[in-house]
Amino acid sequence: MPDNAAPADPGTDAEAEAIPHDESQPLSAPTEIASAPVTPATDEVTDPAVVRPRRALVEAVTPPATPEPVDADEGTTGPVSRGTQRQVEAMPAPTQTRIVVVANQKGGVGKTTTAVNLAAALALGGLNILVVDLDPQGNASTALGVEHPQGTKGTYEVLIDGEDIANLLIDSPEAPNLKVLPATVDLAGAEIELVSVVARENKLKRALRTYLADHPTDYVLLDCPPSLGLLTLNALVAAGEVLIPIQCEYYALEGVSQLINTIQLVTGELNDGLQVSTVLLTMFDGRTRLSSQVADEVRSYFAEQTLPTVIPRSVRISEAPSYGQTVLTYHPYSAGAVSYLEAAREIARRGAKENA
Ligand code: ATP
Ligand code: MG
Repeated sequence: MPDNAAPADPGTDAEAEAIPHDESQPLSAPTEIASAPVTPATDEVTDPAVVRPRRALVEAVTPPATPEPVDADEGTTGPVSRGTQRQVEAMPAPTQTRIVVVANQKGGVGKTTTAVNLAAALALGGLNILVVDLDPQGNASTALGVEHPQGTKGTYEVLIDGEDIANLLIDSPEAPNLKVLPATVDLAGAEIELVSVVARENKLKRALRTYLADHPTDYVLLDCPPSLGLLTLNALVAAGEVLIPIQCEYYALEGVSQLINTIQLVTGELNDGLQVSTVLLTMFDGRTRLSSQVADEVRSYFAEQTLPTVIPRSVRISEAPSYGQTVLTYHPYSAGAVSYLEAAREIARRGAKENA
């Protein structure tokens, strides 16, 4: 990340977004979602024997003398020094690697933001994390502080040339135990090139299996592009679970039915083990009735999967990638950082339970 990189203009993000919505009309929600193949999180009691607490690997542990109020998204911009990272309580590790695909074919709903911030939160919680950037935009690589100019080897070479993941990983400066398989614009070609390849939808699964055999990893997070093409299909075949970020906006659930149909096809044909384990509400604005309505509606469809924590609309979250950072290090005490940390903790806790 260049030193002189300018932050994104926060603009009016801090203000409640006035989204036109006729309150007399019901929010659109596809009826097929009601029959989605959802697998509720169990309520089994956590077995402490399988929850391996670890020391949080955080560079420095002294919080600022006066922590920023959790809702303080106004004020001066710019990152706090990485040396002022907050101490993160150790999170429970799953008994086996959890491969989580972050998917929603709708664009701009917070897939990448969710993937990178959860990855950083889990890593700061002491877990070993791998992020696979499956989007030719390479936004996850950027947000995790990983340089990925054209020519950088990454996901394309794994899918098309069969290269080993282990040889192409780059350490993210966000946490000591956070690795990234970067993506460049070359990956756009993979979508087309894969069409004629034998077992084209299994490429990522095989590569991950080889990697994970020798590299103990707690979570693999797969950041998908906003489409249901072969890149997303590779992720759905490789993963054990799906995390769907849903933006708290009008038409939020539109398109989710298409994703659910695709997941059903994948579970029927290519990956029986795939479950929708987690739904995360993003860009929630408590000042608008619309956000609350969308949240209620999503919770009624995905009662077990929707995390109690919602991610607020936050200027800090949107600024962080401009500095090649996640909000966890950019402004560790902001509302966005607190909520992603809480969501990560909830995911880790559920995973430890489910696998117990
Ligand atoms: P794409 O479909 O293009 O891959 P995406 O689903 O990955 O998009 P993001 O890139 O994560 O979505 O987010 C879209 C935009 O919204 C980005 O500019 C991001 O910084 C911003 N954004 C995401 N979450 C929040 C939030 N909670 N508050 C404010 N801005 C956010
Ligand atoms: Mg994205």
